[in-house]
Amino acid sequence: MKHHKGSFSRRGVMTGMAATGAVLGTAVMSSASNARSFPAFGKIVEEQPFARIEEVGPGVWGVVSTPLNPDGSFNPAAMATLCNGGIIAGEDKVVAIDGSFRPEGAAWLAAQALRLTGRPVTDVIVTHFHADHTGGLAGYQQGSTGPEIIATATTNQLIFDRYAGARQTPDGAQFARPVIRPVMPTRIITDETAILTMDLGGRTIRLHPLKGHTPSDLAIVVDDASVIFAGDLVWAGLFHNYMDAIPSHLTTSVEHLLSDPKRTIVTGHGAIARAGDLENYLNLLHFVEEKARASFSTGKTPAEGAKGFVVPASLGTWQLFNPRYYETAFEAWRRELAGETS
Ligand SMILES: [Zn+2]
Repeated sequence: MKHHKGSFSRRGVMTGMAATGAVLGTAVMSSASNARSFPAFGKIVEEQPFARIEEVGPGVWGVVSTPLNPDGSFNPAAMATLCNGGIIAGEDKVVAIDGSFRPEGAAWLAAQALRLTGRPVTDVIVTHFHADHTGGLAGYQQGSTGPEIIATATTNQLIFDRYAGARQTPDGAQFARPVIRPVMPTRIITDETAILTMDLGGRTIRLHPLKGHTPSDLAIVVDDASVIFAGDLVWAGLFHNYMDAIPSHLTTSVEHLLSDPKRTIVTGHGAIARAGDLENYLNLLHFVEEKARASFSTGKTPAEGAKGFVVPASLGTWQLFNPRYYETAFEAWRRELAGETS
């Protein structure tokens, strides 16, 4: 799959700003009755105001960011990590999943990996380009040494286009400031059609290139522990951010990731869960599709279509990082139905 580079840069800084604005500028909408979200799945081995680490298998840990306060409001401390992630230990390599939003989040994750495994992180795998998964990559660096940073070629290009190569230039500012402090991948996956295996020493993991949340999403499969790090293809308890989504591919990827109900899924945002318990996430994607298609076929704009959109109670509770996310979902479907996505 090749993407036309121009299609990424066209929206450039605007989208990059919106991606962070989605979390920077807007309180999480929620109802107080649903405040107690993100129940723990595994044994908690570390807990901070912004995130916790749960053991999900031998030498495998999931990081769960906790962006909600008990009353359902946004927890500003969560900006450190913001996204979920993880640690996978082999005899030779220690892998960290994703880069947090801020360097202090990644530095915390690196310190925890050292504490839990006795060894520093050797490799970071980036699931996709979004700022809340890449903005903190600098935190993994320790003086002149640091781990390899692995990403697909498409993700590498998107980090550059949206963040490294794009500068926000406020009026009158002498120095423009990028959206994040960009740190680029050091190992690029050039063939995005094949599953890659990585030997960590005594354990092999699979890197599975998919797409749907963005034009390039990487799922990391730990077969010996039956764990999948799904990146932002799978969310739990929070409504999916469709900002860069290709919705039909999203559904296909999610169906694939959740096909074995016994697998443990470390989501990109929200709680860790058994795949079989994430049925309603897929049902929600189908429901959004049905409503967005109906809206499109009757000539409504995404804003008009999203106006009457309500998630039925039967699909569970899905809180919004941003009040515009329903419209964003309808817009993603409009793009796809209008043939504007490749
Ligand atoms: Zn994302």
